[in-house]
Parts: sequence; C-alpha cells; structure tokens
Amino acid sequence: MPLSAEEKRIRKLEAQKKWREKNKEKIAEYKKEYDKENKDKIAEYQKSPQRIKSTIISGWKKSGLVHEDYDALYKTYIETNECNVCKKVFETSFERCMDHDHTTGLFRQILCRNCNNMDNWKKKI
Ligand SMILES: [Zn+2]
Repeated sequence: MPLSAEEKRIRKLEAQKKWREKNKEKIAEYKKEYDKENKDKIAEYQKSPQRIKSTIISGWKKSGLVHEDYDALYKTYIETNECNVCKKVFETSFERCMDHDHTTGLFRQILCRNCNNMDNWKKKI
C-alpha cells in the first residue's frame, strides 16, 4: 500500500530525529568546529588594524589623554618614528609614549620611554 503524503512526512521527521539522536556527538563536533571557526574570526578581528586602533585610542582615553581628534592623533602616533625630544628612533610601537599634561589631560608630544620616565624633555623646552 502506498504511503500518504502525511505518512511520508512523519516518517521523514522520525528518520531525521533518529539521525540526530544517532549523530549527537557528530553534531556537537560540528558545533564545536563552528565555534572554533568563529573564534578564529574573533581572533582575526583582534589583530585587525581597526581593532588595534580602537584599543590604543580607548587606552589613551582611559589614561586621561584629551585630544580633539583621536583619529588624527592616531595617524600622528603611527607615523611618528622617533622621539619628539631626543630623536631616538622607535624600534617597536611599544616604545612610543603619549605625553600629556596631567592637569588638563591635553596631549603634548610623543616620547620614547626614557624621555617619558625621566621627564627629560622638560629641560629642553
Ligand atoms: Zn626620547
């Protein structure tokens, strides 16, 4: 006797349900794999220039640095390759220090760690 459309539909659903039960682990594995892929995407985003930029700028804001145009300041920051005072060339971006007035918060200049720590620049200006 041929199956009715409704019976076929029910059988199909049951088969799918059975398949899912039988392949629970496989499905979980797929999900895990999917999450892992997303994690990579997130990690990729963390390393992206936009992300680095926003992390750096939010760091400045947290430290109390005030500037009217953070985008422009960031551009200056990445394009500055030497200390504004002693002219030491920066080898890594971590050597760049954003010097700002601790009273007003206003950005002053970009310094090497040494000048920033020693306040050397004060003697030169
Ligand atoms: Zn310096």
